[in-house]
Amino acid sequence: MAAEPRERLTSLHSLKDALVMIVDDEPIMIEVVQAFLEDAGYTNFLTTEDSTQALDMMLKLRPDVLLMDLIMPGKSGFELLAEVRNDPALRYMPVIVLTAANDSDTKLRVLELGATDFLAKPVDSSELVLRIRNALAFKAYQDQLAYHDALTGLPNRQLFLERLAWTLKLAHRHNKQSALLQIGLDRFKQINDTLGHEMGDEVLKLVSQRLAQALHESDTSNGITERDNAVSLSRLAGDEFMVLVAEIDHAEAASAVARSLLETMKQPLVLGGHELFITLSVGIALFPQDGQQGSDLLTHVDLAMANAKQNGRNTYSFYSAETNARSFERLKLETALRRAINNDELELYYQPKVDTATGQIVGAEALLRWNHTELGFISPGEFIPLAEATGLILPLGERVIHNACKEAVKWQQAGCNLPVSVNVSSLQFRRGDMPFIIKSALQASGLNANNLIIELTESLLMDNAQANIEMLNTIKALGVRLSMDDFGTGYSSLSYLKQFPLYELKIDQTFIRDLPEDTGNAAIVGAVIAMARGLGLKVTAEGVETPEQMNFLKLHGCDQIQGFLFSRAVPSHEFADMLKQKIGCTSLSSSGTTASNESY
Ligand code: C2E
Ligand code: MG
Ligand code: MG
Repeated sequence: MAAEPRERLTSLHSLKDALVMIVDDEPIMIEVVQAFLEDAGYTNFLTTEDSTQALDMMLKLRPDVLLMDLIMPGKSGFELLAEVRNDPALRYMPVIVLTAANDSDTKLRVLELGATDFLAKPVDSSELVLRIRNALAFKAYQDQLAYHDALTGLPNRQLFLERLAWTLKLAHRHNKQSALLQIGLDRFKQINDTLGHEMGDEVLKLVSQRLAQALHESDTSNGITERDNAVSLSRLAGDEFMVLVAEIDHAEAASAVARSLLETMKQPLVLGGHELFITLSVGIALFPQDGQQGSDLLTHVDLAMANAKQNGRNTYSFYSAETNARSFERLKLETALRRAINNDELELYYQPKVDTATGQIVGAEALLRWNHTELGFISPGEFIPLAEATGLILPLGERVIHNACKEAVKWQQAGCNLPVSVNVSSLQFRRGDMPFIIKSALQASGLNANNLIIELTESLLMDNAQANIEMLNTIKALGVRLSMDDFGTGYSSLSYLKQFPLYELKIDQTFIRDLPEDTGNAAIVGAVIAMARGLGLKVTAEGVETPEQMNFLKLHGCDQIQGFLFSRAVPSHEFADMLKQKIGCTSLSSSGTTASNESY
């Protein structure tokens, strides 16, 4: 049974998606009719032999057309038809009566009760298919008229309200977020007053086309789930348009839609040889946080739009002041990050990895640093998630790999044969082009593959673990080593841990912080080290700040440590100095000559 609410059939192209209900006390009749219709391409059926149940089923699932027998025990077709026509929700549903009776009295009575059409039993397949099609097409045409705005052809208030109701129902059921955007044209009254209503209508038509186009193009990477009718545009009245986004991952997805709408109006409209600049004010309300009911959301989205107008128009505003502030903060940061990436303003720092047994530097992790001229130092904890959410991590991450490889070649040329560790985030990994990117970074820099370690977080690896094994093997086949970062913060399955082709496991700093006093963490760390060694993995502890932590780790057989105790992440030239001092890589020059000031 089709249990999810469905879209109205207002297009002739989708008639075969109709939900066809068949009520007949003879199972064989139902089977035959259904088989004929299936042959014709119909796929959605709702059937019952019990006419007393039929009305409830209809009210719940709202079929597009009803095929019904007349003579049935329990409730006759006459009674059922009368009930259907009396119910405001079912009143206009097409009903085709199947009957063996051929007398004109019966026909007349059925027509009086409001049947749409007849079909004589035994049913002829081509006649059945034709009548169903006609009934549906006529209903679609009526609905098109009743549910669409004559001027723009967009869904009207009525259809919008229906959609809103079932979208919220679905969102509630599946625990999803939805967004409602109300769009008003800025100073539309002025346009009507100065150019006349006819021109005003033309403006509305052109604007509706622009908006529809922008929504169509606004890509799904913005966190909008890809599915039919995920984003729909309606015109409610005058210059008031509404966009319903059925499913969003976060508030940002809604503001991205709003921005694409504002953006699309930047080009002037051309009307009767004149160029006209129109701007929009957009209000945004989110389900469920801004209202559980459609009516609340409608009130709130209206207030949000008024707020956008008050803020000077040509902008958007969330209903919640807090969401609004956060959204604009984030937008500011996103714009700055985009610019910083374009201008190469981010820099790679290097944090040494130290062998617990010898105290020697045995490698370094490349960590991004962003020092913004006005905003100051922005932590990776802030800009990396932003880069991931906006897709900026892709160009950024690729450059990180390239530049880290180049840096490691410099160490090598100076006689320090040390691997560099590079963090890769989930979006980069999921794209599937990691092997290619790594290969080209190795080729471009001339770095030996063995001197590159790729760090992937535990949660990334465990999410869809089975599928990741293959990708990991492909990457490993290039000769690079793989490391599981932030171990302990996700939920690892030991069986996968064994199957992943890993070289190293990095214990997350949250477990190291209170060592050795915190007996719980001490026990965990001890066990993790033992397990990793049992699996033949190198173990590195992150965030080591005190000699006590160091001693504990050393005692328990941890191979390497990374942390402020030894050094923070430092600029490349400082790291070069450190290498020179600590392990005598003398040919590395200091203070940014060969070890370069170059970004990354
Ligand atoms: P991570 O990969 O787990 O990096 C280790 C983090 O611990 C670094 O934070 C480092 O500065 C910090 N750390 C190291 N030793 C200590 C210590 O003794 N005490 C304390 N309290 N912290 C220590 P950072 O640089 O802020 O980076 C945070 C996260 O941002 C990284 O965690 C990594 O997940 C991500 N990240 C940094 N650079 C990149 C990058 O180039 N690409 C990607 N995808 N992610 C990056
Ligand atoms: Mg890391
Ligand atoms: Mg880590």
